Amino acid sequence: MIWYQSIPFWLQGLFPSLVWQKPAEQAVVYLTFDDGPHPDISRWVAEQLKPYGIKATFFCVGDNVRKYPETAAYLQSEGHRLGNHTMHHIKGWNNSTEDYIKDIELCQQQIDSNLFRPPYGRISRKQIKALKDKFHIVMWSLLSCDFDRNLNKEKALNGLKSKTKNGSIVVFHDSLKAESNLRYLLPKYLEFLHQSGYTCKTL
Ligand SMILES: [Zn+2]
Repeated sequence: MIWYQSIPFWLQGLFPSLVWQKPAEQAVVYLTFDDGPHPDISRWVAEQLKPYGIKATFFCVGDNVRKYPETAAYLQSEGHRLGNHTMHHIKGWNNSTEDYIKDIELCQQQIDSNLFRPPYGRISRKQIKALKDKFHIVMWSLLSCDFDRNLNKEKALNGLKSKTKNGSIVVFHDSLKAESNLRYLLPKYLEFLHQSGYTCKTL
């Protein structure tokens, strides 16, 4: 499902126990950053958010929290929220529910969170069922596509701008792979949100 920049309603409707977007009554957008923490990139993200007073949600890979605990602690001290993104960034579809849950529990030992986002958006119905009482399973409504090495950055930025709505959950990545696109897209998108009167909150 990651090939849509914005997630169509029919797809959201197939998985009603997952969180795809938030209520649209207010001009609030929810920024999320996946696959960190990374000592340089996550700090850079936090520095971009700070002048706007934006608090965001970081879906962390447990193994990166183990490697960079001070970065994870810094994000929290800045008022950002951490979510579970498995210990080793594994795909639900390629793992038994038992192994998948084990990997999520390993991540829980690093960060205690009631938010979970499945890597690649790949999660089976059985896995959803096993997790939904303990976690808010958060998908997204809008992808920055910053992970795409061949990204047309200008087009991606325009897509983000035109598809942003009240309650949008937007995905970026604080990872090496996405870094170059992220450094282009994020400052411009933050400026757009500010100019358009959106505020941003944690999930
Ligand atoms: Zn991920």
